Amino acid sequence: MPSFAPLLLASALLPMAAPAQEAPLTTVAERSGFVQTGRYDEVIALCAQFAQRYPDAVRCIEFGTTPEGRPMKALVATRSGAFTPEQARAKGFPVLLVQGGIHAGEPDGKDAGFLALREALEGEAAAGALDRQVLLFVPVFNVDGHERFGRWNRPNQRGPEEMGWRTTAQNLNLNRDYVKADAPEMQAMLALVNAWDPIVYVDLHVTDGAKFRQDVSYQIEPVHAGDTQLRADGLALRGAIVDAVAARGAHPLTFYPSFVEEDNPASGFVDGVAPPRFSHGYFQLRNRFGMLVETHSWKEYPVRVKITRDTIVALLEQTAAHGSDWLADARAADARAAKLGGTAVPLDWKATGKVRTVDFLGYAYTRTPSDISGALMTRYDEATPQLWKLPLRDEIVPGRSIVAPKAGYLVPAAHAAWVGAKLAQHGIEFRRLDAALPAAEVEAFRAAEATFDARSVEGHQRLDVTGSWKPESRDVAAGALFVPIAQAK
Ligand SMILES: [Zn+2]
Repeated sequence: MPSFAPLLLASALLPMAAPAQEAPLTTVAERSGFVQTGRYDEVIALCAQFAQRYPDAVRCIEFGTTPEGRPMKALVATRSGAFTPEQARAKGFPVLLVQGGIHAGEPDGKDAGFLALREALEGEAAAGALDRQVLLFVPVFNVDGHERFGRWNRPNQRGPEEMGWRTTAQNLNLNRDYVKADAPEMQAMLALVNAWDPIVYVDLHVTDGAKFRQDVSYQIEPVHAGDTQLRADGLALRGAIVDAVAARGAHPLTFYPSFVEEDNPASGFVDGVAPPRFSHGYFQLRNRFGMLVETHSWKEYPVRVKITRDTIVALLEQTAAHGSDWLADARAADARAAKLGGTAVPLDWKATGKVRTVDFLGYAYTRTPSDISGALMTRYDEATPQLWKLPLRDEIVPGRSIVAPKAGYLVPAAHAAWVGAKLAQHGIEFRRLDAALPAAEVEAFRAAEATFDARSVEGHQRLDVTGSWKPESRDVAAGALFVPIAQAK
């Protein structure tokens, strides 16, 4: 029988069924069985339609404009009545920010987020959770990149059929931009974050890499780094999310699954703390939780969206249950951070040499020279599951540390404009000196060695400096900035 015949029969038998495209608040992804994903006009439309359908629970807001002129949309969803940052703060409700599409070729968060949100609003998932929190849902962060749409933007990713592009229209990778904040999109996001102060910031991605059966990884900080009390909370949160998705059939990891030696599974893994140019390295410095979620690119799109949806539902439940405690612990961490003057502060983190062996859900594989390049190539047999025993180094300790100044930092007047703008973007407090400080007794950093990287990164040149802080007498001109150490950030 020709394969189309059953389809014709099915539609003939269901004359009353509404055409799928009229189903309210569904995505192109959902209606296509997660074969396709929608364009950004769908995000704009759904944002408005959710607000229209749930006037008591959803607002659609615009928090920026991209370099190509597109609106940056977010949905504010809550049944607490707190639809503004001021109301959320006054009522003491935790804010959960869920972000899709920072890499727009990885649209799982957009399609899973709309699905989870509709189910939560209909009481089909995370029942009651929106009574006790505010969900900020950003379906697509890299909007211009999302509209650079094509079939082969993610060649090692199983679906959807077409997808957006990794970087912005200015070719900036937003998940390398949290600290330098060059992108107008990032500056808009930081303003949204400064206003709402989310206790958890969830960044939804899809990995690259080798073939294996593990289908999602979660990295949260504070866990290895950051405030001690928040580390305990972060560990508990990570454990709860892992348990929730595993109970629904996923195979989660708590470290990023890229091999120490590229393409060689036997080389195993090293865990670490991401530097703050990444989302999950940045938020721990603000004493808030940053969570990186990476579904595995070799899993089919319907599977990935389901896992991401389950993750968001679990996060809603966890935030409803523990958000108030996290807020109290975050405030205590802020107070402790304001007393760091004169104490040692780690600047980065590293794994020790301590190795443990972990079970890893892999496939049988061979490593043989490629016919084309001659280089060693790994071929995986997806028909033959295998349990790998792999080395993992995940004991994390501080790398380099500095002693924080007892009072704060002075930024010379010549650099006050751009440094001040950057500090303001991060919500860091500072004040401008109205009068000069002649012969001020300060400490100044003098570099004995300075080495530039051979390559630039997004228009910047990295610089390694070795040197020390020494007492000096300096004439500090009016217009210099003073950045007090006694503040949360
Ligand atoms: Zn990504």
